[in-house]
Amino acid sequence: MMTHFTSQDLRIAILTNQLAITLQPKVCLKKFEIIGHEVLLRWNHPTCGLIPANQWIEIAEERNLITPLTFWLTDQVARILSQRQSSLPVAINVSPISMTPAFANQIIATFRRYNVATNLITLELTESKKIDNYNAIAGSLSILRREGIRISLDDFGTGYNSMRTLVELEVDEIKIDKTMMQSDHPNTNLILNAIAGLAKEINLTIVCEGIENNTHFNRALKINAEIGQGFLFGKPEPINQIIHHANTSRESA
Ligand code: C2E
Ligand code: CA
Ligand code: CA
Repeated sequence: MMTHFTSQDLRIAILTNQLAITLQPKVCLKKFEIIGHEVLLRWNHPTCGLIPANQWIEIAEERNLITPLTFWLTDQVARILSQRQSSLPVAINVSPISMTPAFANQIIATFRRYNVATNLITLELTESKKIDNYNAIAGSLSILRREGIRISLDDFGTGYNSMRTLVELEVDEIKIDKTMMQSDHPNTNLILNAIAGLAKEINLTIVCEGIENNTHFNRALKINAEIGQGFLFGKPEPINQIIHHANTSRESA
């Protein structure tokens, strides 16, 4: 477990390319085709080895390092998309503590600077931290959505405040967390049906994550989820590989 790192360690990690950007496919469940990717960070630490994001993102949030990290990541993703002239939709994770109007404007400015169409971008609002500044977040989301950036409510069903978040924030999709998709508790299907009914009622796209096998896949189909993500479709892979592949398939089409 990586618990003892400083802002300096993270800065060094960025400067010495220890942070790797990986992409995991998001799949249209009806057509069974890739409709975009989620950006997931990996830290290849020189002495600790590969550190999964859930072991250090929370610490980065606690130490106020997450916002500069997200700016760095957005800049990298925008630069790569513009260099490869990729029209591949991507989703970037954003911690609610980063979400202010100034943050929203800087994200928009970054995509403009690189000439990347903002309607290719989804921001996934993670639920790792308790949201307590609904007003600031709601204002920021409306700035982003006005520019065509989609907003996804990540880890849906795991936070204490999922329903309040849905009431207070205008979003485009909910992403049902893998713990719900994989749960074998007898009430799970009932709860999933209720969540899906609510999402349809207010016109939200439903994304199911953590689809590892046919049981999870069928569960997503049963609630009419539009999009799925999980090891059954593909694991997170290095970004360069995927964009190269997408460009090659487009050229040969
Ligand atoms: P998340 O946003 O819910 O991302 C999904 C996590 O589930 C990823 O773990 C992914 O590798 C994993 N996953 C995907 N499909 C499957 C599956 O079929 N089965 C299982 N067991 N796992 C699956 P990862 O990459 O370790 O990321 C963990 C969390 O760290 C993410 O959860 C996200 O909240 C956070 N994170 C990752 N990258 C970033 C980032 O750039 N910024 C922020 N703010 N958070 C990030
Ligand atoms: Ca996510
Ligand atoms: Ca999740």
